[in-house]
Amino acid sequence: MAEKPEVKNRFGHAVKTTIPEDATLNQNPGHKLRTSNRIVDRQQLHDDSDAKVTIQEVKFEDQTGFVRLNADTVQEPSVPNRFTGPTFLNKRERFSFDGHKMLYHLDRIADWQGGKRFAPVHIDMGLTKFCNVACIYCYAVVQNMTKGTMIQEEALMRYIEDCGRLGVRSIGFIGDGEPTLNPALYDATVLAKKLGIDTAMATNGLLIDMDRAPEMLRDMSYIRINLSAGNAEGFKRVHQSASKNFDILVEKIRSLVKIKKEQNLKCTIGLQMVLIPECFDQVIPEAELGAELGVDYFVIKQCSDSEYQEIGIDYDDYRAMGDVLKQAESLSTADYVVQAKWNKLNVSDDTAIYKNGMRKYDICYGTPFILQISGNGKVYPCGPFFNKDRFLIGDLHEDSFYDLVKGDRYWSVQEDIIKSVDVHKDCAIGCRQDYVNKFLWDLKNPPEHKNFI
Ligand code: SF4
Repeated sequence: MAEKPEVKNRFGHAVKTTIPEDATLNQNPGHKLRTSNRIVDRQQLHDDSDAKVTIQEVKFEDQTGFVRLNADTVQEPSVPNRFTGPTFLNKRERFSFDGHKMLYHLDRIADWQGGKRFAPVHIDMGLTKFCNVACIYCYAVVQNMTKGTMIQEEALMRYIEDCGRLGVRSIGFIGDGEPTLNPALYDATVLAKKLGIDTAMATNGLLIDMDRAPEMLRDMSYIRINLSAGNAEGFKRVHQSASKNFDILVEKIRSLVKIKKEQNLKCTIGLQMVLIPECFDQVIPEAELGAELGVDYFVIKQCSDSEYQEIGIDYDDYRAMGDVLKQAESLSTADYVVQAKWNKLNVSDDTAIYKNGMRKYDICYGTPFILQISGNGKVYPCGPFFNKDRFLIGDLHEDSFYDLVKGDRYWSVQEDIIKSVDVHKDCAIGCRQDYVNKFLWDLKNPPEHKNFI
């Protein structure tokens, strides 16, 4: 290769440059305030497909980036430009598990800032108040589970219609009892899709009606299987269900993945582990199981305890799991994301006050954005306040959800939360609204010099 000509800067000193010799140079670069006086014509880099220097989108493992390929760069560069950082274009980041998505709902934020009454962006909703398994970490057991209690079909369908009228953007059949125990689940999902509402479900998966699975996979955004075990022995220990049910579940998940792939359906199928000491040994087996089954992700989250710490979680226990969780994450591929929710799992690294429930904000503003409804049809601002009559907004068997959201009771309860709830003492640790609350708090309480963006 020919010697590179020496390049001097405007002070006459020799400079190092990585500009390739054959880069198209800008003939008239204007004043030369740059270190180098050889100015690359970037316009031509984009325009001239024959140029030896080009800007290309490249993919590397889980990263997507834009790099300048020099003449002597191999066409398939082994390392992309990592300065692009963790964008959601990177497959690994595409689900944004460990945060919130409020930036995509600026219209609702503007309504909130303007003091208007607005519909929730998202609703987490139980469909029953009972379950067919008894996971040892279950939060619902501190919320008056009652066998046979569930929202009735007529009320559920009327509510879905109201969500459509109001502009609710998504409903997760998540929380309280097992949703597949309510036979109206499937018709509610189909109706929601027709009305433009995204739906999802968190389920133990054992009772999914496989005859209706194609419809669910067509109409739901995601199905999350709550599974905190990677083998039958662990399944029995953590979910307190017969070992043979593990094999039944694995085959159901395998069938869901098959239907999805054969029919080219978009629904994301994932596994979620609630991490407790009793399943520490199951992390790697489940990560491997997820890869073998072909699901889209395996996410590992902290166990949220009640305000009275009835489940008895010691967040210091998570410290021992760092290496195992990283090992599990290393099983990620372009099509399979394994991710621990580090922001929440690392709570033990916080000071004692945060570890024991202190929040990094003082007021809960999040409940009008994420509402929660109990499996008996009763509407509350949030799950941890289920069964607390002071915060009961209404009952979907008696009240129109549309009227509730437009009415005074709904907004006076939201105001009560703002004015009287001490989030450091009255609330479950790490509730569903936590990330959103932090964001809204920061929005209300900006740093100094906020205009120097
Ligand atoms: S911060 Fe408290 S009031 Fe607000 S959603 Fe969480 S648990 Fe409910």
